[in-house]
Amino acid sequence: MRLRCEVRAVIRTAGTVAPGGVFRPVVSTLALSSSPAAPASSFLLHFCAAHKNGKRYKLNGNVTQVFVRFCNEGKATIQFKEPQCDLFIQADPVQLKAFLRILKLCLEGKVDSSELSNLTVVPKNTAPTKLTVSNVSDIPLKGLPRTLHTLQMSGLHMCLFKREILMLRSLRSLNLSNNRIEKLPSEVGNMPCLVELFLNDNLLGSNSAPDWRWIEGLQITSKLKLLDLSFNQLFGVPNTISKLKSLVTLKLDSNKLKCLPKGIGTMKTLRFLSTSQNNLSVLPANLLCLRLEKADFSLNPLSDECLASNTSIGFKMSSLVEQSAAAVLKYKIFYAKNLIPYTLVDYLDNSNYCACGKPTFDSRNYATTIFSLKSFCEAIICDGKYDVNFGCYLCSHKCHKKFISNRRFR
Ligand SMILES: [Zn+2]
Repeated sequence: MRLRCEVRAVIRTAGTVAPGGVFRPVVSTLALSSSPAAPASSFLLHFCAAHKNGKRYKLNGNVTQVFVRFCNEGKATIQFKEPQCDLFIQADPVQLKAFLRILKLCLEGKVDSSELSNLTVVPKNTAPTKLTVSNVSDIPLKGLPRTLHTLQMSGLHMCLFKREILMLRSLRSLNLSNNRIEKLPSEVGNMPCLVELFLNDNLLGSNSAPDWRWIEGLQITSKLKLLDLSFNQLFGVPNTISKLKSLVTLKLDSNKLKCLPKGIGTMKTLRFLSTSQNNLSVLPANLLCLRLEKADFSLNPLSDECLASNTSIGFKMSSLVEQSAAAVLKYKIFYAKNLIPYTLVDYLDNSNYCACGKPTFDSRNYATTIFSLKSFCEAIICDGKYDVNFGCYLCSHKCHKKFISNRRFR
């Protein structure tokens, strides 16, 4: 039971003080309801500008008197024991009488629960932390609540990343799957709490080369644990993805990938990798540096036939630039384009890796060999071939002997 009315609340002990401290009638809604936990205990809720979540007044044994003498003029007063407050009500006389009838039944304990409003009091400090938008009309008119921790906006046919999402500084999980997004703004990399990012079933890579600057953001590189890029149009994933140093789950299924990022073996936290339904024929040998719990390499043209290797492998003395760059990568020293020349950033980002895990910069010493998927993964989904081709950028004679020339396959 609800009543639209004007209410003047007067606290008896403090003179005449209305809600919000203003001595005047305020537009209000009164509702009679009962607690689901105690249906026999009914209460009155007073909603107004000062009490948006409703001020609650207990009814049973708490109402001193109800003044109904001017009921025909649409006026009534309810006097409460606790708090010591009087509610002066002015409303449509017919509706007021109906309201007072239910109020009387409440006070006598004879009210039927079907006549009460199905209300629960929302605690003042409860702010929405989760929002699922499955239709454009579900987007709140006031905008996305800044308190969100989880936001799902799937199947909306969105072509552009909604920039309002960048304002959600507490967001931990963002699901934008099943849309038509082609690229993300670089600011996504600066979202401070983002841990899970679902971009599956979009159009990343469909038109131009996707803008991957967001993946290098200072915040996302340290926080992101799950990245789902499956069911897009990607021909490649940048080597900079290996900067996601907390990533545990990486999903790349159903794209057009011909190779995996060269530095994938440096992602020491990675435990779950799925790359099914791509065009992978050779895997990077530094995958052997990982310890995956589960990996999916199925529906790829991975071969178990050893490809012809480069026979002219030779090693020369490393230059100072190569030695410095190797040290930066080995010790994971932070670098960015605002700190060192951008040519050096590209040089570092595009380094190759040996099967031993060391970075190499001479791309001529490349060889392919057969390794078992079982050597770095506990649970494997594949097309029945566990021994497949890996491409290795060798760092030294020692690694050439260990991984290529002196190896007995299978
Ligand atoms: Zn090596």
